[in-house]
Amino acid sequence: MNIKNYINGEFIKPTSNEWIDNYNPSNGEVYGQIPNSSKADVENAYIAAKAAFPSWSQTTLEERSRILIKISELLEANLERFAEAESKDNGKPISLAKTVDIPRAASNFRFFGNAITQFASESHESAGENAINYTLRQPIGVVGCISPWNLPLYLFTWKIAPAIASGNCVVAKPSEVTPLTAYLLGEICDEAGLPKGVLNIVHGLGTTTGQAIVEHPDIKAISFTGGTATGAHIAKVAAPMFKKLSLELGGKNPNIIFADCDYDDMLNTTIRSSFANQGQICLCGSRIFVDSSIYEKFKADFVEKIKQLKVGHPSDSDTNIGALVSKPHLEKVKTYIEVAKEENGKILCGGNKVTVKNYENGYYLEPTVIEAPSDECRVNQEEIFGPVVTIMPFDNEDEVLQMANKVKYGLSATLWTNDLKRTMRMSNQLQAGIVWVNTWMMRDLRTPFGGVKASGVGREGGFEALRFFTEPKNICIKY
Ligand code: NAD
Repeated sequence: MNIKNYINGEFIKPTSNEWIDNYNPSNGEVYGQIPNSSKADVENAYIAAKAAFPSWSQTTLEERSRILIKISELLEANLERFAEAESKDNGKPISLAKTVDIPRAASNFRFFGNAITQFASESHESAGENAINYTLRQPIGVVGCISPWNLPLYLFTWKIAPAIASGNCVVAKPSEVTPLTAYLLGEICDEAGLPKGVLNIVHGLGTTTGQAIVEHPDIKAISFTGGTATGAHIAKVAAPMFKKLSLELGGKNPNIIFADCDYDDMLNTTIRSSFANQGQICLCGSRIFVDSSIYEKFKADFVEKIKQLKVGHPSDSDTNIGALVSKPHLEKVKTYIEVAKEENGKILCGGNKVTVKNYENGYYLEPTVIEAPSDECRVNQEEIFGPVVTIMPFDNEDEVLQMANKVKYGLSATLWTNDLKRTMRMSNQLQAGIVWVNTWMMRDLRTPFGGVKASGVGREGGFEALRFFTEPKNICIKY
């Protein structure tokens, strides 16, 4: 299957005619090719976006909203096809793509289709001076959206939907590792009547295609989700050009379990927050800290349940854990298991590659639990981004708070307790952009989403995203 760029409403080959192999992680085979787009392709996408901007930015809110909601409906109508494509491209269980990834991509369009009709700006009356200020929120122009492979369509649309809802035109690049659903989105946009050039999708490597978007002098804002090192590089390139930047980066999130929690709910949710999507979610609670009074019980119950999880082909309905996204990523995660052993970590379960019958070359790994000797060891400090978690006991609130915060990241944290005062104390002091108490990954799309420290700069979600994709202009009138 050959994927093409979607530029000015048309599916076209890269100008250089250079291609990259696309792998199916479930069997390790190449099943298609994607464009290795160059600067020239990004330039063509920019020209299309620029030409579409005057008309799109003047399109009524009602019409923009109608088109976004239509895209959402078409995604829902094509749920099976998109879920199959996402699962094939990424290795995630098809059941997950069907219940989480694709429904959420549809929600992103519906949500921002509605949100734009409710978005408002401020006015300030300067009392005693006979003056009034009102603030316009104008679209920026052509913006760049760059997304990662772990939640491909989910995160791609989380950027595109608010960008076009607020009247911008977009040059977007999905991860080269998972390009398929972004390609299919082009067809849906056409069918929904999105005018040509409003959304342009260019495929290719980060270092060429992505870099060309970030370097482009007239792409005025970059919304990026991906690794912290890439985010730092993008900031370096974009800052001297004074681009608006939203950076959603890595995480190493604590999952803090107190003895007074609802135990069964905590245990079941902790299995999800550890291993959902093969542990490849930036929000996964990969460092589990457990109250020492229940540590041994938790350890036994957790490991027993994890041993029951089925690692299997993504299209099997009873598969809990599918394939990791790529061979290099599988190797990286396996290296961390070796690092844990060298650091005197104890592998409580997992740690090995899994051979799935008939799919022997797929990238499967057992869910792995490491009893860590210290919160400062590498497996407790560095983002592994796979089906690997660490567990450690703690004796009191101060100790666990210190361990939870002693990493360079600050994306999310999960807290399990029924003590209200403790909840308030801990939530205030945890260094994270998102704190979940007695739940995990419960999302209300109106809330600010993003991290602190090395987890990023800026917030997505709700009106925060619409503010990012618009420029405020204040007008002061004396009367
Ligand atoms: P990555 O940084 O390697 O790539 C992300 C995207 O950036 C890809 O499309 C890639 O092609 C592109 N890219 C790479 N180099 C570039 C460059 N020089 N210029 C422009 N674009 C470039 O990340 P990944 O491996 O795809 O994704 C995993 C990472 O993403 C993890 O660190 C994870 O925590 C993070 N992530 C964060 C969030 C969040 O919301 N904070 C969500 C999901 C994933």
